[in-house]
Amino acid sequence: MKLNSAKTPSQSMKMKVKFVKNTLACALLMITSSVWADTVQPQQTTATITPHTAKHAGLEQQYFDPAISEKNDFYEHINGKWLKNTDIPADKSSWGTFNILHEQSVQQLHEIVEELSKQQFVDGSSAQQVADFYADYMDEKNLNSLGIQPLKAELDRVNTLSNIQQIAGLTAHFSRIGVTSPFDVGIDQDMKDSTQMIAVMGQSGLGLPDRDYYLKNDAKFKQIRADYLKYIEKTLQLAGETEAAQYAQQIMQLETDIAKAQWSNVQNRDVPKLYNIYKIQDLSKLSPAIDWTAYLDGQQLTGKIQTIQVLQPSYFKALNSIVKKNSLPVWKAYFKYHLISDYSSLLSQDFVDNSFDFYSKKLRDVQEQQPRWKRGVQLVNSTLGESLGQVYVQKHFSAEKKQRMEVLVQNLIKAYGQSIDDLDWMSAETKLKAKAKLASFSVKIGYPDQWRDYSGLHIQKNDLIGNILRTREFEHQYQLSKLGKPVNRAEWLMNPQTINAYYNPSLNEIVFPAAILQPPFFDMNADDAVNYGAIGAIIGHEISHGFDDQGSQFDGQGNMNNWWTAEDHKRFTEKTKALVAQYNRYEPLPGFHVNGELTLGENIADNSGLAVAYKAYQLSLNGQPAPVINQWTGEQRFYMGWAQAWRSKIRDARQIELLKSDPHSPDKVRANATLMNQTPFYDAFKIKVGDKMYLPAEKRVNIW
Ligand SMILES: [Zn+2]
Repeated sequence: MKLNSAKTPSQSMKMKVKFVKNTLACALLMITSSVWADTVQPQQTTATITPHTAKHAGLEQQYFDPAISEKNDFYEHINGKWLKNTDIPADKSSWGTFNILHEQSVQQLHEIVEELSKQQFVDGSSAQQVADFYADYMDEKNLNSLGIQPLKAELDRVNTLSNIQQIAGLTAHFSRIGVTSPFDVGIDQDMKDSTQMIAVMGQSGLGLPDRDYYLKNDAKFKQIRADYLKYIEKTLQLAGETEAAQYAQQIMQLETDIAKAQWSNVQNRDVPKLYNIYKIQDLSKLSPAIDWTAYLDGQQLTGKIQTIQVLQPSYFKALNSIVKKNSLPVWKAYFKYHLISDYSSLLSQDFVDNSFDFYSKKLRDVQEQQPRWKRGVQLVNSTLGESLGQVYVQKHFSAEKKQRMEVLVQNLIKAYGQSIDDLDWMSAETKLKAKAKLASFSVKIGYPDQWRDYSGLHIQKNDLIGNILRTREFEHQYQLSKLGKPVNRAEWLMNPQTINAYYNPSLNEIVFPAAILQPPFFDMNADDAVNYGAIGAIIGHEISHGFDDQGSQFDGQGNMNNWWTAEDHKRFTEKTKALVAQYNRYEPLPGFHVNGELTLGENIADNSGLAVAYKAYQLSLNGQPAPVINQWTGEQRFYMGWAQAWRSKIRDARQIELLKSDPHSPDKVRANATLMNQTPFYDAFKIKVGDKMYLPAEKRVNIW
């Protein structure tokens, strides 16, 4: 449960993250589908962050639009001038607070990469790994001279398949090297025994962002399908395939069949339904057409596991017919196409341009490629992230920031506890359990205590594809090594230089990377009110994921375990249903609504996070009135800080993609819809019947 989604996709590149890794972890923003960015115990005191002296408000008043009333559209009132005067850069699909910090982070990482490259280093050191990897990517002349040659060994694997049974072994190999395949395996904590690591297997296999792109008949999706068909054909042509047009049709049909069989992303939020433990020998009952022995051998899982969690059993049943329906030549074309497509950004310019033309221009309406150095930095960051992160935090993160964050987090947890005590809809029995869960939250701030060790990863000059393949293999071995060992509670799922945050229900932990601890989220020189409205609400958001519709199914030890009384759970569900109905009404683009069920967990987290941050702000005042700064009260500045944190613009095509695939609501909806449920907001800005920001008290949803 992340804070946010793909705000910073590297549009010209597309390489799939192994999606079954960490099925449940929730970030503040969605992590992009491209690999290279484009994802304290509570104490009994309420500490104030700083005395309220000599602090600026932390508000960006130059962007306020007085022509729009705060009572009718709070988000536009706070951000109106910025929205009017800002163009999304030609190489971006969206632009806002998160992107701007991401760009800054890329610049800082670029300096680090350049500095490391100038050092005297020994073979195998992290400086050597970073420098050579980056230099390989930057050597465009060399890559252009090689064409598709670097993929020849992998293409030969496909060419030499002689019968349909062998596609199981190829699927295993391709999923290990990051190529889109009909299904994938990852290693994750057992949802019912969080001390154990198990293998988890789930659906995959599509080249478009979501199954709806294949199945819906809106004009937009029809056009994208026509463009995608041409893209498949062109990709195969570039690789020398003579019957590219015919294969493109067959691949499209194959993927459409996969899309039909897949669970929707709303179904994939139903956690208990994803928990299906199969004995290895029973996989052949699910899909007899798949050679499971070859598959598990190919994943190096034979002998290491006796059982496996299957996320979507009905998908694997349907896949059996899809395997049988398609001939060996069609399967070979499908795998060749995905291999080339997923590796296009690492090949010569004709492949890079072909991929950019479809995935950025046609699919996301992005007009220009990012400069090569930015793509190179993000590639290194996606593979050697903690090597860069270690230098990043030395340069750009202070112990003082960490200390102030710890105080903020303590105050949020304390306010959360008081809020639970005050709930009028929950029994004392369930409150005790909720507070026990709250007491066992753990918190990570800034950067990991133990850094990832990349020694043993061989990065060789002038071998970009080889380096990528070895990196993927290194990662595969790292994941496999977790089986049968105690869970590594020190591991981070994000780099410190990532502008995001997350909650992981299996560890019951909230995590805040160093890079999000910057204005407009966290300003060391600002008065508390805006910090509570921004980073405070983000802390509250992540804590609330422990109590959203999914997180509340897990206990404080990270096990799926119902700790609710039946009556309390019924009341909780009624409240969440009201929130689904509220968000379903939002229509950011004509004909494209917010999906209230898909976004429910994130909407609960925003709703409760902001409410609890407000209470924590009040506690921090210790009974004293907040200072008035530039005529605004503390309460007003708190909500203004929230609204300015979500300032962003997005291209329509990208908005559609996110409405279909992102569990977070669009930023403007996150800002305004959340406010409309907060009664103290009505008091702070005197919102009355007739104002567009007004909801009758009985329609406002307050959960935690
Ligand atoms: Zn979230």
